[in-house]
Amino acid sequence: MKMYKTLTTSVATLALATFANCTFAAGELIGIALPNKTEARWIMDGNNIVKNLKAKGYKTDLQYSTLDVPTQISQIENMITAGAKVLVVAPVDGATVSNVLSKAKKKGIKVISYDKLIMKTKDVDYYATFDNYQVGVLQGTSIVKKLGLDTGKGPFNIELFAGSLDDNNAHMFNAGAMSVLNPYITKGKLVVRSKQTTLAKVATLRWEGATAQARMDNLLSAFYGGTRVNAVLAPNDNLATGIISSLKGVGYGRNNQPMPIITGQDAQPANIKAIIKGDQTSTVFKDTRLLASAAANMVDAIIKGQTVPVNNTKSYNNGAKIVPTYLVKPQLVDKNNWNAVLVKSGYYTANQLK
Ligand code: BGC
Repeated sequence: MKMYKTLTTSVATLALATFANCTFAAGELIGIALPNKTEARWIMDGNNIVKNLKAKGYKTDLQYSTLDVPTQISQIENMITAGAKVLVVAPVDGATVSNVLSKAKKKGIKVISYDKLIMKTKDVDYYATFDNYQVGVLQGTSIVKKLGLDTGKGPFNIELFAGSLDDNNAHMFNAGAMSVLNPYITKGKLVVRSKQTTLAKVATLRWEGATAQARMDNLLSAFYGGTRVNAVLAPNDNLATGIISSLKGVGYGRNNQPMPIITGQDAQPANIKAIIKGDQTSTVFKDTRLLASAAANMVDAIIKGQTVPVNNTKSYNNGAKIVPTYLVKPQLVDKNNWNAVLVKSGYYTANQLK
């Protein structure tokens, strides 16, 4: 009996000591603000962040903003009022959340910028994202390889598209892709018939597929009456879908007029189906399971007062500070590897891609 008592006392002492040594995660509220539910990736991101945080014992408030800036700001305000301890934010517009974040700062709430960088404020603590420049390099390289430019083929016609200028990622994707394509444009092996090459000219406000489709319609009718476009740099899958519709509208995708090489990003199910069918050439897979887990590890380290995991402390200057970043590697997916990368890894079921 005595021995039993001694044992239980020491178990209790050990438990207390353990408790004293670590801050308890259970119960802390984490706010997560994502841009929209219309792109499949953000739904995966949201689900994966919540799953990871719940597994670590946190409460979560996940909100989507229908790409509307005032909506996102009021969602973040509500999270602050509700007592969130950390905010994970993928901004609709990189530069418009600084006011609401200064309120967060005053309350000691830490802010993690998620996927897209929050710009022009010191009130962002960490950034979890994919290697965005590398995303563009993968897109450019896919075009070079598929056209055979690296084996001396060409010249070929190409048109260029970029994402939304208010999204820092759009600039990085474009810089990465153009670092690969520009040397061929200079040598005349890639010809941009529209001459629209600057980022301002090729950007697509709010990443709207319909806007890209309308611009592609205009390019095809103004510059491709008597000749084919051989490649299109599409910065993400949504825009690729708009561009594909435009091309199909004027007869591309038939035997006498094959589809051009078309890139993408996000590995959305609809676009993997397009790759299997031959309408789209490639996409860049960004495994949201890895990014969500990186963000959840940051949250956990912040709450527990531990060293926050980062692997890049120089590339992401938001105009007010260099934001310590954790970068995840993106991967090119095309008709040769989609099954291994996306289905065998358990990211999608085979049925989702049928
Ligand atoms: C993301 C992409 C996404 C795009 C449009 C970018 O910031 O990194 O994955 O396709 O925004 O939402």
